[in-house]
Amino acid sequence: MKTKSNLKKEITPDKTTGYRNFPMVPRVVFGQGSFSQLGEVLLPRRKNSEAPFIFLVDDFFENSELVNQIPLMFNDELIFVSAEEEPKTGQVDALVERIRDKFEELPSGIVGIGGGTLLDLAKAVAIMATNKGKACDYQGWDLVHKPALYHVGIPTISGTGAEVSRTTVLLGPDKKLGINSDFTTYDQVILDPDLTKTVPKKQWFYTGMDCYIHCIESLNGTYLNAFSKSYGEKSLELCMDVFLKDIPEAESRDKLMMASWHGGMSIAYSQVGVAHAMSYGLSYLLGIKHGLGNCLVFQHLDKFYPEGVKYFKKMMGKHQIVLPTGICSHLTQNDFDIMINVALGMDALWENALGNDWKNKITPDCLQEIYMKI
Ligand code: NAD
Ligand code: ZN
Repeated sequence: MKTKSNLKKEITPDKTTGYRNFPMVPRVVFGQGSFSQLGEVLLPRRKNSEAPFIFLVDDFFENSELVNQIPLMFNDELIFVSAEEEPKTGQVDALVERIRDKFEELPSGIVGIGGGTLLDLAKAVAIMATNKGKACDYQGWDLVHKPALYHVGIPTISGTGAEVSRTTVLLGPDKKLGINSDFTTYDQVILDPDLTKTVPKKQWFYTGMDCYIHCIESLNGTYLNAFSKSYGEKSLELCMDVFLKDIPEAESRDKLMMASWHGGMSIAYSQVGVAHAMSYGLSYLLGIKHGLGNCLVFQHLDKFYPEGVKYFKKMMGKHQIVLPTGICSHLTQNDFDIMINVALGMDALWENALGNDWKNKITPDCLQEIYMKI
């Protein structure tokens, strides 16, 4: 049983007392085709004709039908961004500079359209548009003191939960860490499952499994509480429907979008665990993207999450997903040490997964053994 004070300490290393008072997305539109409402959602938020909306859009959508539906007005700016690599602090700084150079007025807001990469970028740009310095200065917990610009998130892949979370995960010059703050969370989200129609199958699986793994790690963690459990259980049920049952495609898209939302809500008040910690190592050293990295690690975690891994393998089989192999076969001992250090640096994730005495339960050798299988 967690006491109030140690729950606070474990969930986030902030300085407040008592239980976390965390922000939620205050406004959300859900439904197939709801993207068409974006114009009316933004209209009352337009400060004046000189204060544009900046749309950061995954470049997958360049020349697509979706672009014609973006409600551009006045001097609004549409910027296509590649999601080939995960977002970087320098990329955020460059975008903010571009916006500052072009517009005298502060924009009315930032709209992010894409997967977790674009959703995180847009959150970070909204924060840095109103805060001094560089994005890397704010990687950590509660370092942002000025409210961000109004920002709207529109996911086009389901799974990361970035649409609800209070973090934006960025690769900085010396660390991969989120800007975790009360100002990070979106002011408005539009959940239109139709936008995910074009996601390739493998990507659908990898990002969907991010959600599934959020549920498993949250539900099997020591930080679990009724809040996280209620969201985590619902998300898990939806994931099971999507990945193990034969349901119509439109229903499946609806359900996965809501699974992502609930999965994100679940970890907001608990934590992720072993797969995420080790996936951060893979991503830091090798640039492996979050969803795939989680899958690569999770397949070997039957010792930690036996049931979760059993169903994960069933899902892989059902959807004929074959994960890449030999990823770590060429690595040096120094490479392994780097990944192990990054993974073991995520104290809260290990504490959630294994309890207060996690340091007695896990060794660098044990991690290396898992990495060597990947
Ligand atoms: P992604 O945004 O990296 O995109 C993956 C690929 O899918 C890209 O090639 C992209 O162009 C393409 N794509 C996006 N939408 C598409 C569509 N509708 N049709 C076809 N292709 C499409 O994928 P992701 O898995 O959603 O996001 C991963 C990122 O999310 C990582 O950077 C990770 O750190 C971040 N993340 C953030 C949080 C958070 O709480 N902030 C949580 C988990 C993950
Ligand atoms: Zn994740």
